[in-house]
Amino acid sequence: MDLKKHIREVPDFPKTGILFYDITTLLRDPAGLAATIEQLAAPFSGKGIDVVIGIESRGFILGAPVAERLGAGFIPIRKPGKLPAETRTESYNLEYGQDALQIHADAVDNGQCVLIVDDVLATGGTAAAAAALVQSLGGDLHALAFLIELKGLDGRAKLGGQNIFSVLQY
Ligand code: AMP
Repeated sequence: MDLKKHIREVPDFPKTGILFYDITTLLRDPAGLAATIEQLAAPFSGKGIDVVIGIESRGFILGAPVAERLGAGFIPIRKPGKLPAETRTESYNLEYGQDALQIHADAVDNGQCVLIVDDVLATGGTAAAAAALVQSLGGDLHALAFLIELKGLDGRAKLGGQNIFSVLQY
């Protein structure tokens, strides 16, 4: 099935000049949802992934079913102030200003094999911060998987030598 046909492209959201890839139109379609999870998880089947990490908030929607399919656990990385126990924080630069992500300090065990999942790889700042959090806890980052990769923004450059997989490229 052609997943791109189900993704709605919304110009000038959330601000002028951004073409927003809206996956809600893909996820509402039962076959689209099933194919999305299948294609995100397939390359990692049998690779010994212990935990899948989803980045708030669309990474939660995709990451939890991928984890279940791989027989792995699921861990959320969240915006600051949302996680209740002790956290680690990583700040990163946005186009204007800074943002940060947090993970529970005891979420990843030393040496656990980790897969990070998010919907879109754009500039790579978000994913690089998530990768830094995993590594600060001693996790073994196997790969980062995205439904959509925006090639022109070269997010891969921010992710160094990491193993990166994307289902769809624009
Ligand atoms: P970045 O840190 O630039 O790689 O941005 C990645 C995050 O922003 C992802 O979590 C996406 O959900 C979101 N994002 C960035 N650009 C877009 C876009 N054009 N359409 C939809 N989501 C986007």
